[in-house]
Amino acid sequence: MKPASFEYVRPQTLEEALTLLTRHGDEAKVIAGGQSLVPMMNFRVAQPALLIDINGLKELDYHRVDGQTLRIGALARHAALRESPLIRQVCPLMSEAYHFVAHGTVRNRGTLCGNLCHADPASEMPAVMLACGATLVIRNAEGQREVAAADFFQGLYATAVYPDDLLVEVRIPIPASRVGYAFEEVSIRKGDFAMTLVATLLEVRSGRISSAAIAYAGVSDRAIRLDAVEKRLLGQAPSEKLFADVAREAAGALEVNEDIHASSEYRRDLIRTLTPRALAQAAERATAAV
Ligand SMILES: Cc1cc2nc3c(=O)[nH]c(=O)nc-3n(C[C@H](O)[C@H](O)[C@H](O)COP(=O)(O)OP(=O)(O)OC[C@H]3O[C@@H](n4cnc5c(N)ncnc54)[C@H](O)[C@@H]3O)c2cc1C
Repeated sequence: MKPASFEYVRPQTLEEALTLLTRHGDEAKVIAGGQSLVPMMNFRVAQPALLIDINGLKELDYHRVDGQTLRIGALARHAALRESPLIRQVCPLMSEAYHFVAHGTVRNRGTLCGNLCHADPASEMPAVMLACGATLVIRNAEGQREVAAADFFQGLYATAVYPDDLLVEVRIPIPASRVGYAFEEVSIRKGDFAMTLVATLLEVRSGRISSAAIAYAGVSDRAIRLDAVEKRLLGQAPSEKLFADVAREAAGALEVNEDIHASSEYRRDLIRTLTPRALAQAAERATAAV
């Protein structure tokens, strides 16, 4: 199918983009890489009257470290982030997860921020944002607000970004001390969205787990982090039994969907399999000699 007809505008400044968003509200859609929006328009799931193309806002194409924070702008492409030595150094969980995201042609155009705004429930980066405790910086003509990743994903393709908003930056805290990471995913083919995925961060001090993050996607209507299950790990020594117990708890605690790709029982089985694998690798990385 072809998209319904629409108007197109390419602002050259952030202020101009925000003014257009205020003026046109939910009649308009921001287009960044177009890798989710254009297919939706072709299927006529989305029929915006106006496309506001933000690709002219070159000042939003960056990723850099500022103090203890990794900052990623709205036009940073998947491909640049995936290949970035800086990201590998300060947020290796993201680098690892990027090996599961889409294909080269999609990654060359698609942006991290567009991906987060689209909020596909089986997408990798929302889970990475949750595990890392990211903050999302949203602007509109009225001002700026910061939203924790935990509050950003609000349901199926639903986020804290409203029609007159632009997600301008992602901020990821860089841990002060050594943290182990791991990302595990099962999908039908390489580069597909996840059937189930788990993203983990673990800190181990004096042989005990001192902080833990476990985030899942592909299992329910949004990426999700399980605080109660994470707490179970704190103060414990890493072990196969502990990780298997925690995985069983996670599989029981999550509301798990079923669809044409997998039954909910199969997804629970994946949770029970992938969680201990990810936790064991994260623990090993947390304790391995530097
Ligand atoms: C064949 C194929 C395979 C894919 N496989 C995967 C995969 O395995 N894993 C995965 O995670 N993704 C996958 N994707 C999706 C891909 O990651 C997209 O690039 C991403 O979801 C959207 O980013 P974009 O910049 O292209 O956003 P767009 O398509 O331009 O926009 C997506 C949505 O976000 C809004 N938006 C974009 N930027 C902003 C902003 N800064 N502020 C406010 N709203 C904004 C748009 O209005 C639109 O609603 C795949 C896509 C394709 C076509």
